[in-house]
Amino acid sequence: MTNDFIYQSTPSRVIFGDGTLAQVGAEIERLSCKRAFLLSTSFQAADLAALADRLGSLAAGNFTDAAMHTPVAVTQAAMAAYDACGADCIVALGGGSTIGLGKAIAYRNDAPQIVIATTYAGSEVTDILGQTENGTKTTVRDPKIRPEVVIYDPTLTTGLPVAMSVASGLNAMAHAVEGLYAPDANPVTSLLAVEGIRALKTALPLIVSDPKDLTARSQALYGSWLCGVVLGSVAMSLHHKLCHTLGGACDLPHAETHAILLPHTAAYNAPAAVQALEPAAAMFGGDLGGGLYDLAVKLGAPLALKNLGLDQGALEHVADLAVKDPYSNPRDVTRDGILGLLTRAYDGVRPTAS
Ligand code: NAD
Repeated sequence: MTNDFIYQSTPSRVIFGDGTLAQVGAEIERLSCKRAFLLSTSFQAADLAALADRLGSLAAGNFTDAAMHTPVAVTQAAMAAYDACGADCIVALGGGSTIGLGKAIAYRNDAPQIVIATTYAGSEVTDILGQTENGTKTTVRDPKIRPEVVIYDPTLTTGLPVAMSVASGLNAMAHAVEGLYAPDANPVTSLLAVEGIRALKTALPLIVSDPKDLTARSQALYGSWLCGVVLGSVAMSLHHKLCHTLGGACDLPHAETHAILLPHTAAYNAPAAVQALEPAAAMFGGDLGGGLYDLAVKLGAPLALKNLGLDQGALEHVADLAVKDPYSNPRDVTRDGILGLLTRAYDGVRPTAS
């Protein structure tokens, strides 16, 4: 039995496979562009230089100072460099931070974007941009923000450190879990969500055992794409609200915060979304929150907010913010309920629904 729904497909062109980095030049030309502006973080500057060499005259300039949470000052510096080199498109190589910078430029000048995604964050297939200015993170959605072309080359992810791979993979799973109980969920996004969770649940333990396992890397990147599409297609709820609040108000790291909170938000919402979560819960022995926690333990993922340097005194403030302007959520968002959830996540104990 299927309820009524609205489904809108998303327009990204996706190129997936080992060695697909070689197709960047052809994709620039396919967009009728000639002068690409290349982006990365300083950590991936060598990979970006190698890509620039490969692109030859198609590479007009580069910028290697992308930073977490897309500071507006960094975007302004990058835009000045973009204009100075006469670029006509963006090529972003990296995770959510680099992709965020490309999106921030495109939001302002509508430049076409080619993104080579090297983490599992999922930002490359969304029309969402979060940016920070004066200590405040705000989010905008706009069709100009969604990259036109996404390249997934699993060979580029074999060097993603295991800890980052695990946290990023759980970050992706969080999009899918929330997508299952989203108020605007539809049969297509729910299928993508379940398949995304399945792929990551299978791949992440294999990556922990052997980070160079290309088959596992490929499966994880495939899962992250599906989870990213879910994030870009339906509304997110309590989990993303809490992570957004903890990231913005307490400056916690993005992927690790998602990884720690996911078992707890899933456990909190499970009693109110039994049917929607059933296909995911079935993969975890019927107990989604507990099963996700056990997976995090097995993967060596961060388990406790206190280990991210959070002060316990901040939990009351975060609970206040979460109750104020809550996102839609299957279960009532009460201050006591959220404080209990946050306290369990702070201590890193196995989650309960209470
Ligand atoms: P990140 O992009 O900050 O990457 C973390 C570090 O890993 C960086 O130094 C990066 O250069 C490095 N790295 C990335 N890929 C690598 C690889 N394959 N090998 C070696 N090193 C690699 O981390 P992230 O978690 O991908 O992104 C977090 C940011 O993305 C946050 O600002 C978050 O808000 C944003 N985000 C946005 C959306 C959206 O839809 N707007 C979705 C998810 C995340």
